[in-house]
Amino acid sequence: MQPPTIAHYCQKCRAANPLGQEFCARCGTRLMIVVEPAAMRHDATEATTAHEEHLLERLSILENRLARMAEKLERGLTLLLRQSENTYATRALVKTLVDALAETGSINTGELERKWHERCEKEAADGSSVPDKTKSRDPST
Ligand SMILES: [Zn+2]
Repeated sequence: MQPPTIAHYCQKCRAANPLGQEFCARCGTRLMIVVEPAAMRHDATEATTAHEEHLLERLSILENRLARMAEKLERGLTLLLRQSENTYATRALVKTLVDALAETGSINTGELERKWHERCEKEAADGSSVPDKTKSRDPST
């Protein structure tokens, strides 16, 4: 008795069923999964092998792309982290400066805050999409 080259193995009773059969010939279970034991792989047709190789090739290409993307993402995250660390350091420096200057009575913190907000609003207005040459500090044209 020659076994079939490719077979559906019944998920219930493990009986080999010819490809394309819907129900197990032995127990009548609807065949759901194709179980191909490793020993059967060598019996696979040339077309299947070529197809598998093609799929494996595509898979490795995708894996490479994924690895490169993960690398880029990691680099981006590192930059982001460094940026936020720098921001924290700058913030700490400014706060220390403000405290030191306020202690010596050189500045009024309330006045400083008012001026800071004023500047922020001005910068935001300068950077807006609507060009306003009249408000520009250095008229280049
Ligand atoms: Zn069965």
